[in-house]
Amino acid sequence: MNDNKRLRIAIQKSGRLSKESMKLLKGCGVKFNIDERRLIAHSDNMPIDLLRVRDDDIPGLVMDGVVDLGILGENVLEEEQLERQSTGKPCTFDKLRQLDFGSCRLSIAMPQEFEYSDSSSLEGLRIASSYPNLLNRFLAAKQVSYLDCMLKGSVEVAPRSGLADGICDLVSTGATLEANGLVESEVIFRSKACMIQSPIAQADDKQALIDKILSRINGVIRAKE
Ligand code: ATP
Ligand code: ZN
Repeated sequence: MNDNKRLRIAIQKSGRLSKESMKLLKGCGVKFNIDERRLIAHSDNMPIDLLRVRDDDIPGLVMDGVVDLGILGENVLEEEQLERQSTGKPCTFDKLRQLDFGSCRLSIAMPQEFEYSDSSSLEGLRIASSYPNLLNRFLAAKQVSYLDCMLKGSVEVAPRSGLADGICDLVSTGATLEANGLVESEVIFRSKACMIQSPIAQADDKQALIDKILSRINGVIRAKE
């Protein structure tokens, strides 16, 4: 087990949020060196350990109290929350704040030749997604029944490969959709990165450190506005 006196922060190991997450923490005065082969990086000027994991693992690590803080996309957080609610697993956490990076939207996109009028056009079709719970919430509210096609990667090629009629995937510029002959038809969730805290009560000194980090994050973001 890790030393429980040190604050544990989970960040994405490598991907779209990694650089900005590390930059934000460095901007708050947390000094650390990353060894690419190691899961954990110890700060040498503060009692903080960084856990470098896949973004999908971050909500669970925070909700289960394995780590104290996590930096992740609101999309991944909301999906995990819906998943845990449906399976009866604990899913409490405190959202400390939204961050100023990782902007994207979760959208339904269909092949260019598809005639889309509204969500009822999707009735009975198969939609590929890595976000089955968010997709289901959106389409269930519209009373549209559809078929699932769960894919963790390569979602954008599913229609061309004949696996699905359309997709529900993350979009930022839309270039990937265009390159795959797809058109965005519905935005179902807008997301940015955020920082969350575990629901497990903290010792006073650890909570004081969390408060200090949060206040510095507020300062770093305000300075850029
Ligand atoms: P991991 O290996 O950690 O599971 P991943 O492939 O699931 O990585 P990334 O593609 O690195 O994840 O995206 C991480 C997060 O970045 C997304 O969950 C989302 O919050 C944000 N993001 C911002 N823009 C985009 C985009 N255009 N496509 C995908 N994610 C984006
Ligand atoms: Zn992921």
